[in-house]
Amino acid sequence: MELVFDGHNDVLLRLWRTMKEGGDPVAEFLKGTAQGHIDAPRAKIGGLAGGICAIYIPSGDLILKEPDDNGHYETPLAAPLEYLSSLQIGMEKASIALRLEQAGAWRLCRTTANIRKAMADGVFAAVLHMEGCEPISANLAELDVFYAAGLRSLGPVWSRHNIFGHGVPFAYPMSPDTGPGLTDIGFELVKACNRLGILIDLAHITEKGFWDVAKTTDQPLIASHSNAHALTQVARNLTDKQMDAIKESRGLAGLNYAVTMLRPDARDNAATPLSDMIRHIDYMVERMGIDCVALGSDFDGATVPADIHDAAGNQKLVAALRDAGYAPEDIAKLCRENWLRVLGEAWHEKA
Ligand SMILES: [Zn+2]
Repeated sequence: MELVFDGHNDVLLRLWRTMKEGGDPVAEFLKGTAQGHIDAPRAKIGGLAGGICAIYIPSGDLILKEPDDNGHYETPLAAPLEYLSSLQIGMEKASIALRLEQAGAWRLCRTTANIRKAMADGVFAAVLHMEGCEPISANLAELDVFYAAGLRSLGPVWSRHNIFGHGVPFAYPMSPDTGPGLTDIGFELVKACNRLGILIDLAHITEKGFWDVAKTTDQPLIASHSNAHALTQVARNLTDKQMDAIKESRGLAGLNYAVTMLRPDARDNAATPLSDMIRHIDYMVERMGIDCVALGSDFDGATVPADIHDAAGNQKLVAALRDAGYAPEDIAKLCRENWLRVLGEAWHEKA
């Protein structure tokens, strides 16, 4: 079995909803459930040895706008969120992550050595991420506290605007160049992440914001869960020019399993063949090289291909990569080694 370290999931969102409905998120993760995509038993079956787990503040359930006669759609950008309620939800999700660790259900990893040890021990290696920084205020005080709780990765914005910058809408076809980039405070956030050693994730940010981070950061450029715009023209995917910059910085893009970002028609239809995943991987590898492509499933955050179904189906993608002709060392890079390399760099580890 090929162990996978995956660059993006929303399991904390599902577990938080379970908690809000009176359930026990730790028991759900440990014992397993038929809901959603990730829990300990299904991760074990699928070789999902670890991943970057998002603290995401929901904008309500996102409903994609129905396509028009041409198959085009443009879902309006979600409204900005309030700080205090966002902070509360962010704390609740961080608390679930900490309780999972206290229960031995997973390990919160702060170094790549932590990740390798957890994977060797057969314990899910979780890296805490914040997807949209609405729980952080302009003086960045909360950043230090979340860092102390284990936060080692963040995306300044989700697909909405906040005090740090601007996000792209869910729309097809659309360029990622949909508006302004980082605010002045956004630039300060990037500098603080460089100082602390927190990976900066460019998924969901406008193209302008992407270039703003690129000219400011000392880290490799990372889009944790984004695909090729040339194949699926949604605003969330990466243009060739963005991929060239990622390659230049020795960063990476993680393949998003979301069918809306894989299918040529960008429809939310689970009947999406594995060949659509391979087409995006092939394109990204062709453009950026085998060192700059990885996986970023978006498990528990999106509709994934029916053949994958959930974390237990992860090895079907590995088998498809083998069938497509990827060598064992290439598959190891795609499945985990590229993520471990860029995390080590962002976290100031000596090579
Ligand atoms: Zn996302």
